[in-house]
Amino acid sequence: MKVVIPKEKDPAETRIAATPESVTAIKNLGLEVAVEAGLGEHLGWPDAAYEKAGASVVGGDSIYEGAGLIARVRPPEPDEIARFPRGSMYAGFLDPFNREDLVRGFAEAGVAAMSMEMVPRTTRAQKLDALSSQHNIAGYYMVVLAAERLGKAFPMMATPSGVIQPARVLVIGAGVAGLQAIATAKRLGARIEAFDTRPAVKEQAESLGAKFIDIDLGESGETEGGYAKELTPEQQAKQREGMVKALERANVVITTAALFGRPAPKIITDEMLERMKPGTLIIDYAVSSGGNVEGSVADEEVTLHGVRVIGLSNFPGRVAFDASRMYANNIVGLLQILHDKESNTLVLNTDDDIVAGCLITRDGEIVNTVIRERMGQNA
Ligand code: NAD
Repeated sequence: MKVVIPKEKDPAETRIAATPESVTAIKNLGLEVAVEAGLGEHLGWPDAAYEKAGASVVGGDSIYEGAGLIARVRPPEPDEIARFPRGSMYAGFLDPFNREDLVRGFAEAGVAAMSMEMVPRTTRAQKLDALSSQHNIAGYYMVVLAAERLGKAFPMMATPSGVIQPARVLVIGAGVAGLQAIATAKRLGARIEAFDTRPAVKEQAESLGAKFIDIDLGESGETEGGYAKELTPEQQAKQREGMVKALERANVVITTAALFGRPAPKIITDEMLERMKPGTLIIDYAVSSGGNVEGSVADEEVTLHGVRVIGLSNFPGRVAFDASRMYANNIVGLLQILHDKESNTLVLNTDDDIVAGCLITRDGEIVNTVIRERMGQNA
């Protein structure tokens, strides 16, 4: 059975789904690998490195011939799906809550689509948890970006020419990305405050050196899958009120608040921006799913009441070498789950909660219950 890794079609995507190291791991399972010519050139992995690892390097249109599973970071173009063999599988970030067209396209083409966003966030699934691997890289990069753009040093420095006070960083939403942002800002010597609606986060944030802002929201909790629940309008108002002082103090604010499969909660309103110090820098990780900050725009730096807001649509793509290595490992993790030793093929066993969680389409049907529910009866 052949695993095919085509190049990314979206010019904004710098990450890729296979490295020479991951090719070796796939070959070790007993599977064949084909990569598209030039796949890793921009990251320092020439075609020869993939060949040495055991992949065949294929140019142009014939890449999909005989593919058993196609893996990529981003979803395919809708017209590309027709080129995938019927009965093949596809694994990648598919944004299935927002891409009904794609989900239907996969079903019509008879391709089994697996969404990396839908992998359950369990201990057993950690090896293929691509959301976590990419959030981690993004958490690091957001702090590096802030440090570069702020115009103020992060660590305290006592020099003969004067004392520099440490930068004050506020992290709102301390899941995987937020916790990595805290750890990175700490290494740079910043003074960090953090807030999250899930009570379990307090201890994690504090263990990394942040001061947790206690806001009494009443019952907030998390969903069965470990994700944050949406706050009621009253709770949202309490959160805003509780955060104002910390926002006024901050030099940098990093917002990563997300609600699984839903638009991001709006956390910093225009009124709150007005109360912040001019020159404060906000990095909005949630910009692609609607933004945590009122007025933030993807891939632009906007200045609102003197506060600069930066939101990139692809933060992990700024650290593409390591983000690709992690993602490629996640794909290997998925293949290990799917691989049946006896037949040396990839098998979709939906008794496995990981497979059942991420499988969206199969044999012409939309089989994922969460996605079916969201799409309504038409699914
Ligand atoms: P996410 O990207 O869905 O959300 C980011 C953070 O925003 C979360 O911590 C969430 O609680 C928070 N948030 C939501 N609304 C907020 C608001 N109004 N104000 C402030 N914060 C708000 O989260 P994630 O980083 O992808 O993690 C999701 C869950 O999966 C977490 O519970 C995490 O611990 C869990 N997880 C488990 C494992 C495992 O191996 N068991 C691995 C990775 C993640």
